[in-house]
Amino acid sequence: MIPAVTVVGSGASGVHFALSVLRKGGTVRMLDVGRRGRVPVLPDASLDDLKTQLEDPAGYFLGPRYGAALLPGVDDEYYGIPPSKDYVFDPPGGFGHSSSGFAPLFSFARGGLAEVWTGGCYPLNADELEDFPFPHADLATHYAEVARRIGVTGEEDDLSRFMPTHGPLLPPIRLDRHSDTLMSSYARVRERLNRRGAYLGRTRVATLSQPLGTRQACDHLGRCLWGCPRGALYTPSQTLLECQEYQGFEYISGIDVTHLHVGAGTRVRTIVGRTLDTGAEREFPVDRVALAAGALQSTRIFLASMLREAGQRIRLRGLMDNRQVLMPFVNLTMLGQQFSPDSYQYHLLGLGLDASSPRDYVHGQITTLKTALVHPLIQKLPLDLSTSTSIFRALHAALGLVNVNFRDTRRDDNYVELSAEHAAPRLHIHYSPDADEPARVTSAISRVKRSLLSLNCVVPPGMAHIRPMGASVHYAGTLPMSRAAAPFTTTEYCQSREFDNLFLVDGATFPFLPAKNITFTLMANAVRVAEAAFQ
Ligand SMILES: Cc1cc2nc3c(=O)[nH]c(=O)nc-3n(C[C@H](O)[C@H](O)[C@H](O)COP(=O)(O)OP(=O)(O)OC[C@H]3O[C@@H](n4cnc5c(N)ncnc54)[C@H](O)[C@@H]3O)c2cc1C
Ligand code: SF4
Repeated sequence: MIPAVTVVGSGASGVHFALSVLRKGGTVRMLDVGRRGRVPVLPDASLDDLKTQLEDPAGYFLGPRYGAALLPGVDDEYYGIPPSKDYVFDPPGGFGHSSSGFAPLFSFARGGLAEVWTGGCYPLNADELEDFPFPHADLATHYAEVARRIGVTGEEDDLSRFMPTHGPLLPPIRLDRHSDTLMSSYARVRERLNRRGAYLGRTRVATLSQPLGTRQACDHLGRCLWGCPRGALYTPSQTLLECQEYQGFEYISGIDVTHLHVGAGTRVRTIVGRTLDTGAEREFPVDRVALAAGALQSTRIFLASMLREAGQRIRLRGLMDNRQVLMPFVNLTMLGQQFSPDSYQYHLLGLGLDASSPRDYVHGQITTLKTALVHPLIQKLPLDLSTSTSIFRALHAALGLVNVNFRDTRRDDNYVELSAEHAAPRLHIHYSPDADEPARVTSAISRVKRSLLSLNCVVPPGMAHIRPMGASVHYAGTLPMSRAAAPFTTTEYCQSREFDNLFLVDGATFPFLPAKNITFTLMANAVRVAEAAFQ
């Protein structure tokens, strides 16, 4: 009989781990803070329809106090989160952290951070898995399983050289006009770009081009950022609903897990949490535990458990995140054209840059601008607001953004620990970049600029934006899987070497972080652990 397992967290990692255990006939209890969103408004309306059909469109788009409007002088990111998604980042009372060199994001929502993700799904290749203590084949089949569950669109093209093929790929989402223009330009200069190690192709995206279960295909409503009303854009809360159909599944929300209680020996006896509505402490007896609270929160729970149960205040080294550079561009071929708001909103194209070592591959996602929040972009133009707005309107259909991702490695300089200043211990995070990072970033920026120029696109001077570490939200590396047993590592099946019945099934166990967005691998790895270690 499969031992009962208590999972902490309902994000991408937790729900796919849970679903695999349930399908094998196991029982799962899931503890979660579990903030909840609202049901999408007017599900058949396009973005423009919402502006005319909603009773209070300003309240919907900007929030009851216009909190989503950025005033001049605010130096914000190019990405913004609309009011309908605020719940994703709403922390439990008393939550806090400190950091230096790192700006983390935390989610306490049903479904976690991927309730607001952009769906990019990229399998790792054998070179990128070199530091993982298992062969590539062990993960490959689980990519296929996750693709079957969530629906991944894409196709075999020039980017396939960087991404191994896996199980079912649904036909890609229809290209918007601007993306189509970029592909046509690429067809003309393909050989020249390839000689320079640059390749363009379709991104792999967890958005349906055909129905899957109760989810409908993308109908190009242009509302992706505000929450897809058709369920076409995958979110982990969809898999949570699937788990809830199993008799052996119990979901308990409103619990902020603080630590694991160990008692005598090295087995976790109970999970201890704070009930959000009363603040009372609650204990849950456990057989096996799977921490899937997101790499940083799982690390915090582990650190707090070491402090309370073993009296050890430790520092976990090796935190990783992908450095990201945002590069807005103007496609000269698109000048004077109209943009269509009835288009899929997120990236449909990717730019891959090869490197002398395959582990240094640089990965770009290209988003052409349609209905996304535009004011963060306008703010960045080095002109006054009214001139910037006029120029922006004239250029709208020609604008795009490449989000360039860089790999990261585990280094001792980057760590997570508990700070001593507060009554309840809080997370303290420190990060400093690799010495060779500036050279890698400068070289990639110039390669991306050159590639774009070949596609008849220019990056306006001063607009490339190096995002702060933490912004990519691909956290990993604090309790790595390793072949050799060592303190504060896990086995190949993500089983803790400190606590026998504890598994860490999110990014905390990754020993290397390739440039590709991590979530598809988080899900596949969680399935791998559930399949192999929960017999
Ligand atoms: C804007 C945006 C776009 C993104 N786009 C992409 C993309 O295109 N491709 C990609 O691969 N990735 C993307 N990501 C990253 C992706 O969202 C994360 O990699 C993924 O959500 C991590 O999943 P997780 O399950 O490990 O953790 P999380 O998503 O952080 O989930 C953590 C879960 O644990 C629960 N929890 C946390 N602490 C506690 C506690 N103390 N007690 C109880 N429960 C707790 C939370 O409620 C939540 O359910 C994006 C992220 C953002 C913010
Ligand atoms: S365009 Fe976006 S919001 Fe509209 S159906 Fe497609 S995924 Fe959903």
